[in-house]
Amino acid sequence: MSISGQELAEFANQLHGGVVRPEDEGYDDARKIWNAMIDRRPALIVRCRDAEDVTRSIAFARNHGLPLAVRGGGHNVSGNALCDDGLVIDLSPMKEVRIDTERRTAVVGGGVTWGEFDKAAQASGLATTGGVVPATGVAGLTLGGGFGFLARKHGLACDNLLGVELVTADGRLVHVSDRENPDLFWGVRGGGGNFGVATSFEFKLHPVGPILGGVAVHPFDRARDALRFYRKFVEGAPDEVTLFAALGTSPDGAPVTLLVAGYIGPAEEGERILRPLREFGPPIVDDIKRMSYVDLQGILAPSYPPGVRNYWKSGFLADLSEEAIDTLVRHFERVPSKRTAVVLEYLGGAVSRVGERDTAFGHRDARFDLIITSLWSDPAEDEVNIAWTRELWKAMEPFASGGVYVNYLGEEREEGAERVRAAYDPEKYERLVALKRKYDPQNLFRMNQNIRP
Ligand SMILES: Cc1cc2nc3c(=O)[nH]c(=O)nc-3n(C[C@H](O)[C@H](O)[C@H](O)COP(=O)(O)OP(=O)(O)OC[C@H]3O[C@@H](n4cnc5c(N)ncnc54)[C@H](O)[C@@H]3O)c2cc1C
Repeated sequence: MSISGQELAEFANQLHGGVVRPEDEGYDDARKIWNAMIDRRPALIVRCRDAEDVTRSIAFARNHGLPLAVRGGGHNVSGNALCDDGLVIDLSPMKEVRIDTERRTAVVGGGVTWGEFDKAAQASGLATTGGVVPATGVAGLTLGGGFGFLARKHGLACDNLLGVELVTADGRLVHVSDRENPDLFWGVRGGGGNFGVATSFEFKLHPVGPILGGVAVHPFDRARDALRFYRKFVEGAPDEVTLFAALGTSPDGAPVTLLVAGYIGPAEEGERILRPLREFGPPIVDDIKRMSYVDLQGILAPSYPPGVRNYWKSGFLADLSEEAIDTLVRHFERVPSKRTAVVLEYLGGAVSRVGERDTAFGHRDARFDLIITSLWSDPAEDEVNIAWTRELWKAMEPFASGGVYVNYLGEEREEGAERVRAAYDPEKYERLVALKRKYDPQNLFRMNQNIRP
């Protein structure tokens, strides 16, 4: 549908933020997101300053039949933060972070990143569960669940939500919490951006840090032993311990096995609990030390820079069996990109103690999560990297539980809607569909891991 210059000018004039169009300077920057594979050209990018801008943008998109995308941190690999030829509600100017140290709560705007939030909360020695790479958006991560170093102790990011301000498809600004619109509150804790645009979040905070954490590096020829050690260690570890294992490449180009640890508790106790981790091997590099929580949250950032090409595959594993370990290691020997890492995370703890029916987040009982994070720079290498990732995923499917964490899904062009269903059990998926029918029957919010009404 064509939009007249006058209509556009009237719309832009009403906004507290601004509009960026293809002919404007800065358009190419405004349509850049974290995954450089995504090259979409929206007709309008609306830099929203507040919920009113969001309401106006929704009305404008509806009235002109424009596809609609919502951008929080713009970090999702799928590129759903952008659409071609449509309107992007860009929340990145919404940077409010208000910390209430007495109540231990935080109100956080829809465009805040975890780096920004962690820094503000840690100024008062507080934090809540968030993603392990600072540039990731609070919004997208929380709406899909949100795993991080604090999750085994304090639950997922969405488990720490007290309330959300949401603009629904009909343009209403609603507050959702346990008491108000509890059906929506259930849905936004794991159901992603399907039910509205979240303009602000209220979180519970916890006293955190300083902590013990960091990386232990092992040579690749001992990768099998390191992953066996990982399996045993995490299964017996207290909730204070979060441990990631990864096959990756060291800065000098050698393949390595990495164990990335955080102990969320008194550092002296952490020294004792993490001792076996530091003695095993021993590691060729032991960089586990006392640090601030903000520093812990920064250690993986250099491995996941913006502007690099990304293709990911992920799924929960039924078990980390000997055969699964062997498959991972053998396949990694042929990894085409030195930036690529095969990551394992272990859930459990407080994540598994929230009732499966209490929130939309799927698979509370999942333990090992496999994320094949393929990263490379040269577009000429797309094919070889995508093929390698898909081959590894295929080889790992026999060990998968069938479930997946919705926030790690990519575009999933081949598998499509089936992979979104796999993020939820069938009963939960049906409940999400019913909620979608109630709040967004036209599927206005469909640039996401879509629940079809
Ligand atoms: C390098 C990297 C590290 C990661 N680490 C973690 C991690 O430690 N733990 C973890 O759980 N996940 C992690 N993730 C996955 C992450 O949770 C998702 O990519 C998440 O979607 C990012 O949120 P965003 O706001 O940046 O995303 P965006 O790309 O902006 O949006 C993602 C989706 O959410 C929707 N959305 C975004 N904001 C809003 C809003 N305000 N209202 C409604 N819908 C919205 C979008 O429309 C889109 O569909 C990581 C991803 C990357 C790339």
